[in-house]
Amino acid sequence: MTWKQPKYRKRPGEDRWAGLPLAMHIAVRGAIVMFAFLGVLGVFYYVESMPDGAKAWGQADLEEPIRLFTSEQIRALRDDPQACFAALDGSNMSFAEVEPRSSTPQCRWQAGVAISSSNLDYANPQPPVASCALAAALYVWEREIVAPAAARYLDAEVSEILHYGTYNCRRENSAQAGRWSQHAGANAIDVSGFRLADGRVVGVHRWDDGGAEADFLVEIRDRSCAIFTGVLGPDYNAAHEDHFHLDMGPWEICS
Ligand SMILES: [Zn+2]
Repeated sequence: MTWKQPKYRKRPGEDRWAGLPLAMHIAVRGAIVMFAFLGVLGVFYYVESMPDGAKAWGQADLEEPIRLFTSEQIRALRDDPQACFAALDGSNMSFAEVEPRSSTPQCRWQAGVAISSSNLDYANPQPPVASCALAAALYVWEREIVAPAAARYLDAEVSEILHYGTYNCRRENSAQAGRWSQHAGANAIDVSGFRLADGRVVGVHRWDDGGAEADFLVEIRDRSCAIFTGVLGPDYNAAHEDHFHLDMGPWEICS
């Protein structure tokens, strides 16, 4: 089979508008530039009109569903107490700022808040304090992760989050030496289970029991990793066999 040369090939340097007058050249090229500019502008306005969570430069809006940048925006609140308090102010959470009390420098929380009401209730004793970023993360987690998982797997509403508390001035695993726990900065909560509106209690210790309740717990563990930086549960080690440790620390772990 032989290759046939095409009948017409454009010569290098050939101007496709050679027959047009100069004014037409300018008009056509100007129109192309104008349409390109309007296209870019259109894309910019389209992106700008999207919800904050869908924009890399958006601010955390705790009332929005979880979107592409929600996780990054909540994480950014850790280093920006002013933005964090503004985000909580923009939500329906009731909270009060709490001054650090500890004389141990490692146990003085940054931007601590006491939550008096949120999307879901916390069993007594109410967490006395949470770092602002932890409070912001919990607020989204309750509504976007816990409540839908209960509806999906248990056909129920959650009435109360059961927990072992947030603040605890200690090192990791209560060791004598080593890294300070995120609990020392009120930057972590240990969630032991969920009380449902119909009276049932689903404890994290039922992780291996199978069935809908175990599916509910697994879904919460898995999806929590999109909000919190540290998520440790029964799969991590025996020390977490009866609770989810959820924190906003600097290390990413999901287990
Ligand atoms: Zn913990």
